Amino acid sequence: MLNENPLPPLPSVAAEVARRANDLNRYPEFYPEYLKKVIAEWLGAPQDRVAVGSGSVGVALQALQACVRPGGKIVYGWRNFDAYPLLADMTGARSAQVPLLPGGRQDLEAMAKESVDADAVIVCNPHNPTGNLLAASELREFISLVPSDTLIVLDEAYIEFVSEDVRPDSLAWPWEFPNLLVLRTFSKAYGLAGMRVGYGVSSPELAARTNRFQLPFAISNLSVAAVEASLRAENELNARVRHLTVERDRLAHGLRAGGWRVLPSDTNFLWFDEPSRVEELAALLIGAGVEARCYPGEGARLTVGDTVSNDAVLGALGA
Ligand code: PMP
Repeated sequence: MLNENPLPPLPSVAAEVARRANDLNRYPEFYPEYLKKVIAEWLGAPQDRVAVGSGSVGVALQALQACVRPGGKIVYGWRNFDAYPLLADMTGARSAQVPLLPGGRQDLEAMAKESVDADAVIVCNPHNPTGNLLAASELREFISLVPSDTLIVLDEAYIEFVSEDVRPDSLAWPWEFPNLLVLRTFSKAYGLAGMRVGYGVSSPELAARTNRFQLPFAISNLSVAAVEASLRAENELNARVRHLTVERDRLAHGLRAGGWRVLPSDTNFLWFDEPSRVEELAALLIGAGVEARCYPGEGARLTVGDTVSNDAVLGALGA
């Protein structure tokens, strides 16, 4: 039901985490400078442009705490990732929720208009829960329309599942747009959801403001070890991402053949664009022993599972 990677940790990653378990009596670094260095070197970015946090949701909270005034306004499309309204509440802000366009597209034109008097705007690309991908050109145009003193959070939690030929080169954009924070995570493609490590890339000024809200001792030594071991095993992890995208496309094809309206997806999940069939769908999935995230009157999100679970879904819902 959560958008997790269905595959267990790589043996090399699990072994490194287990090895570090002997040091649990020790504190991690006060602020995670070493982890920032590791991530910056991996990205080929200066360290002063990187922020890390407890998952990408933690980095988002830090940036919003730094940039949003109490009573200020945060704009985002809706429906969207469940945490955005919670982050707005936590920062004492008002949410301005802009309805999605057909096909799960975030309405960038309306969001840009709403941003004029906002403290922050959040764009999720590709979008959770519909899997819709906004093209690089339209995103860049949107970013250039948002006032330069409004924080833009570009949440790319699923970006590694986007095929490389259409993946926006967004990590380069903060050089041009100092108010842009590009958010990424080790939770999805890298399969480390339980280790809670996310990162952001931005201008040095915005990274410094975001890092000022870093909770001391918040990133555990085990999490740092898991990230380092994962970066050493990047080829294996990329192969897993390719496997999951092949499974995603197999699942989408089979479900469409079974008569379900399934949107194109650039993520590790699929969206059933079936507002009037959600209950029927939920019953069939429960019968197959599979849980999906159902939104009555809207649709349902199904996370790509392992091959056995995907076969079970196709057995129940396919042609
Ligand atoms: N952004 C989006 C769009 C998500 O769907 C999720 C997880 N469901 C997150 C961020 C949070 O991920 P993390 O584990 O990095 O906090």
